[in-house]
Amino acid sequence: MLYIDPLACVDCGACVSACPVGAIAPDNRLESKQLPFAEINASFYPERPADVKLPPTSKLAPVIPAAEVHARRRPLTVAIVGSGPAAMYAADELLTQHGVRVNVFEKLPTPYGLVRTGVAPDHQNTKKVTELFDRVSRHRHFRFYLNVEVGKHLSHAELLAHHHAVLYAVGAPDDRRLDIDGMGLPGTGTATELVAWINGHPDFQYLPVDLSHERVLIIGNGNVALDVARVLTADPDDLARTDISDRALAAFRKSAVREVVIAARRGPADSAFTLPELIGLAGASDVVLDAGDHSLVARDLATAPDTLTRNKLEILNKLGDASIPGSRPRIRLAYRLTPARVLGEQRATGVEFSITGADEVHRIDAGLVLTSIGYRGKLIRDLPFDESASVVPNDGGRVVDPVSGRPVTGTYVAGWIKRGPTGFIGTNKSCSFQTVQGLVADYNAGALTDPVAKPDGLDQLVHARQPDVVDSAGWAAIDAAEIARGIDDGRPRNKFTDIADMLAAAAATAPPAPKRRLLARLLG
Ligand code: NAP
Repeated sequence: MLYIDPLACVDCGACVSACPVGAIAPDNRLESKQLPFAEINASFYPERPADVKLPPTSKLAPVIPAAEVHARRRPLTVAIVGSGPAAMYAADELLTQHGVRVNVFEKLPTPYGLVRTGVAPDHQNTKKVTELFDRVSRHRHFRFYLNVEVGKHLSHAELLAHHHAVLYAVGAPDDRRLDIDGMGLPGTGTATELVAWINGHPDFQYLPVDLSHERVLIIGNGNVALDVARVLTADPDDLARTDISDRALAAFRKSAVREVVIAARRGPADSAFTLPELIGLAGASDVVLDAGDHSLVARDLATAPDTLTRNKLEILNKLGDASIPGSRPRIRLAYRLTPARVLGEQRATGVEFSITGADEVHRIDAGLVLTSIGYRGKLIRDLPFDESASVVPNDGGRVVDPVSGRPVTGTYVAGWIKRGPTGFIGTNKSCSFQTVQGLVADYNAGALTDPVAKPDGLDQLVHARQPDVVDSAGWAAIDAAEIARGIDDGRPRNKFTDIADMLAAAAATAPPAPKRRLLARLLG
């Protein structure tokens, strides 16, 4: 028997789809004859000592039925802004509770945030978490309002008039910018923009990406840098079997890139990428180090502070030598390089670095210079903002007024806008759980104001402000059309990258709104 830790599991569903014999199922879908396995699984894990910190057990304190909170109270209704992992995990938690209603508002006509536009296309298994999100969105008390921008089409106050609470899970949409001379020249950009372009994000499809030079330089060595380097050096025929955008694929087929250098300002022991991503990179790509960096790895190995760092260094230690020419495009990891200025007059031709901790200069030529130094949260209209941390000030997800120190009634955050841009997709499960726990406690304590607007007024308001709103049926139509477009080429989907095409697909198979309402009534 395979044992799954119920506390650490993030419900991504990857094991369910990967299991070759279909032996894994969510515990709430077990047939009665399978129920004993749930108990056997649970008993496999010993009692945890009290000081071991693990994600919560995901069992929310029950939402007290509306009538018990107050005789005329409306059932808990929550607006979630954003539709990425933090938003969908929050919706999932809320919908475990009887009678709770969730409306999700998303700026794009397509949901799931960075899972669609940030996860690298060669990581299709990671994207399978959308199967869980699709299941959540099919709940009868879940509604999508896609192609609707809060702050433009609807205000925070309007959302609060229709809901008990508004939970912002809008991520960190901006990039941290590197403040050195020459950034901004043609041939410079950010890795996160490139990832969005590769993934067919409609706002980035016309990004000027010049792959005519043989070297690309990436500054910063987090997981995003690894994603970009891996895709830039991948075989386009392999990428052609993914959901990469057609435009990016065409550019990669003509690419002259032979080497991607990932430059970190600190040493190997402080590499920002995670161990699993390094293992994946070393397995999929040709990764090399200069002789000097090999010596740095050996030096750091002797003093590795913990097992995880030691494991990383051992893998780095086994990488090939950059002096031996490779037969395919490769990735070179470089260390102790602090960026000083971008070289070039009309366009970038490389970067001048100072060697960290030494009085020396080092130059690397490149035709494309990308910074990959992290994401940045953005101010949300009508909410407080902590500029230095780029997050909304909060206490465990309850938005807090920084002046009074008191919670802002009915206003919550989850994901990167709450804790900053760190962690993997599953990290958002416990993060969203914490927020939802506070929200439900506030509702149960009678601290949330009942929505003043009539329940069916929301649809009318949204349609008046944004006639092109896309609902769950519209998204299902876009999804089906994209999957159909990919079938002949053996691709999981061929994405629309233009909003007009998405809206056309959403309208093509969806019955007109009045008929849809009638259908809903007929179907009960
Ligand atoms: P990150 O992990 O925070 O890495 C940022 C990198 O930029 C670090 O190497 C950092 O160096 C460097 N940096 C920062 N400021 C700099 C400066 N002024 N000059 C030079 N270098 C500078 O950021 P990320 O790669 O954008 O990733 C964001 C989050 O998403 C991370 O938690 C990451 O693990 C996650 N993610 C996960 C996956 C996955 O699980 N597959 C994929 C993508 C992203 P220092 O360390 O020296 O500050």
